[in-house]
Amino acid sequence: MLQFEHLYSTLPEPLWVATQATPVAQPELIAFNASLAEALGAKEIPDSATLAQWFSGNQPIPHAKSGALGYAGHQFGNFVPQLGDGRALLLGEVIDQNGVRRDVQLKGSGRTPFSRGGDGRSPLGPVLREYLVSEFMAAMGIPTTRALAAVTSGERVVRQLPEPGAVFTRVASSHIRVGTFQFAAARRDEALLKALADHVIERHYPEAANAEDPYLALLEAVVALQAVLIARWMSIGFIHGVMNTDNCSIAGETIDYGPCAFMEQFDPKKVFSSIDQGKRYAFDNQPAIAQWNLARFAETLLPLMKEEGDALVEQATDAIRHFEPLFSAEQRRLHADKLGLAADSDQAMSLMEALESHMHQGRMDMTATFDALTQYAASPNDESREALLALTTQPNELIAWLDKWQQAQVVSQDDERFTAMRHANPVIIPRNHRVQEVIDAAYEGDFAPFHTLLAVVAKPFDESVEARRLAAPATENEQVLRTFCGT
Ligand code: AMP
Ligand code: MG
Repeated sequence: MLQFEHLYSTLPEPLWVATQATPVAQPELIAFNASLAEALGAKEIPDSATLAQWFSGNQPIPHAKSGALGYAGHQFGNFVPQLGDGRALLLGEVIDQNGVRRDVQLKGSGRTPFSRGGDGRSPLGPVLREYLVSEFMAAMGIPTTRALAAVTSGERVVRQLPEPGAVFTRVASSHIRVGTFQFAAARRDEALLKALADHVIERHYPEAANAEDPYLALLEAVVALQAVLIARWMSIGFIHGVMNTDNCSIAGETIDYGPCAFMEQFDPKKVFSSIDQGKRYAFDNQPAIAQWNLARFAETLLPLMKEEGDALVEQATDAIRHFEPLFSAEQRRLHADKLGLAADSDQAMSLMEALESHMHQGRMDMTATFDALTQYAASPNDESREALLALTTQPNELIAWLDKWQQAQVVSQDDERFTAMRHANPVIIPRNHRVQEVIDAAYEGDFAPFHTLLAVVAKPFDESVEARRLAAPATENEQVLRTFCGT
């Protein structure tokens, strides 16, 4: 079905270590992303039973060659020289319809040489969460790994309690992380490091090969993609939750969805993850953390760069600092879109700051606010105005803000600006309580709510009745305040 190639496996061990999946008891297909499979060049798609065998790891997919990847990482600031794929296997790469090489990886497929104490398995809950959130991000046009398949294993995995197990298949531009570079660097093996860097340049940043210093150009390119990525996350309230260096993609995609969640009531300090005790990965800390991660990346590249001594350090530091203007430029563009303003509007930043502060004070739901503002822009009447004002606890303050916004805004419904505004402001996000609801139903054997929610979040700008129902913020009783790691 997929025409696998195996370029990464030609890198020296232990960047890639041949490893087989451990079969599961009774694989059953939950979901298969046929349109993604087609984009990966699949001509015909086999029946569900075969897909379940393949995407659980029970039967090898023709031409796949499975291996676990080595990487290191700073976890919550502490360096661990060897992490690696403890429960994941790279099956190989596929050249997609756009000519882009993309990894296909099983997650939850059993123990590997990098498993340490872990069982190599995934509970069903995190598999469903990753499926929903990554497909939503893709529909929003935000760089992300994709969901290709999810299969229940028919086995229990024991976490706090026994839970049903599952295997997830994801597709990524690559699974190379900042932690992969740290892994090579920590081994003090410059040949290994250079092989990795050259692979990345050839695969992701071919233009860097022609730069005066290709490794500096590589650093600059990764900084640029990360700056855009984090700005885009924040424009829809996404909180990754575990921005460790091993979860920071060199290809600039959102990767390793764990206890991630979307902010509901606007609060810049928001944290959901139960393991983020120090609030290191709070919503508004994400740009600083991305920069910190990129600084760790830069450190690994220093031995390969041309410059020497202080000038070398200065050059790398400048490259990292460049994150800030790139982040701000993207943020400014996104803010203008969200508010329906012209891209070069100099009011976008100040209006957004005022609105954010108001959303915080007025306890407003971020997604509902921008959706209501978009509807108000589409048809400015009493009804749409009241719907917006009903979201705040301080309507008078919001009325004052709306006056300023109306003076600045130029959008109308048949306008290109309006289209940009609608596309910056989803009708629906995968809200925590909805995700939890579909997980709870799945644990009872009912996957219908998962499929319903998936269909809706994969079209986040559609305004169907179902979308509006599932888009509604949690009531006090429904709120989910904590998310847990997939492990
Ligand atoms: P994560 O929190 O999923 O990003 O994983 C952090 C590290 O722990 C990675 O090296 C994973 O491969 C490893 N890991 C997570 N869960 C398991 C598991 N159930 N068995 C083995 N290794 C795991
Ligand atoms: Mg990870």
